[in-house]
Amino acid sequence: MRMLDVDLPFAPSLHLCHVVLDLNGTIATDGVLNPGVSEALIALPDTLTAHVVTADTHQVAEILRPQLPCELTHLESDEPPAVAKAQLVARLGADQCVVIGNGESDAGAMKIAGLAIGILGEEGLATACLANAKVVCRSAVDALGLLSTPKRLIGTLHG
Ligand SMILES: [Mg+2]
Repeated sequence: MRMLDVDLPFAPSLHLCHVVLDLNGTIATDGVLNPGVSEALIALPDTLTAHVVTADTHQVAEILRPQLPCELTHLESDEPPAVAKAQLVARLGADQCVVIGNGESDAGAMKIAGLAIGILGEEGLATACLANAKVVCRSAVDALGLLSTPKRLIGTLHG
C-alpha cells in the first residue's frame, strides 16, 4: 500500500495513508472555508488520501463541496459524531490516519490515530483534543503543511 513514511529519529516512525479532517472550526469558520485550505489539500503528497468528515452542524458541507478537492463524508445523525468519527478512523486503519480537529467530538478519533493534530483556530480547541494531540497548530493550513513538508513534522516530533 502507498503511504507516507515519516522516519522520526529516537521516536516511533509514522506510516500514514489517510488524513481525516473535521470541517467546522478546523478547516471552516462560520460555514466559510478558511483561506488556503483548498490549496493545502491539493499540495498534500499523492500517498495521502484526505477525507473531510462532518456532522455538518451548520449545513454547509454541500455548499463547500466544490472547494474541497478530497473525499467528503457526512456522518449519520443517529449516533454521536464522536462515535462515528472514531469508527470511521478505526475502519480506515487508525495507525495510518492523521486526524486533524478542534472539537470534543474529534477527541476519540484523535486518541486512536497514528498522528493527531489539534487546531487552535477561531472556534478554539477543546481540552480533550489538546490532551490527545501530538501537535497543536494555529490552522489546518499549517497542519497540512507539516504533511506536505515532512521535515517540519520531523523537527517537531523527533526524540
Ligand atoms: Mg470542529
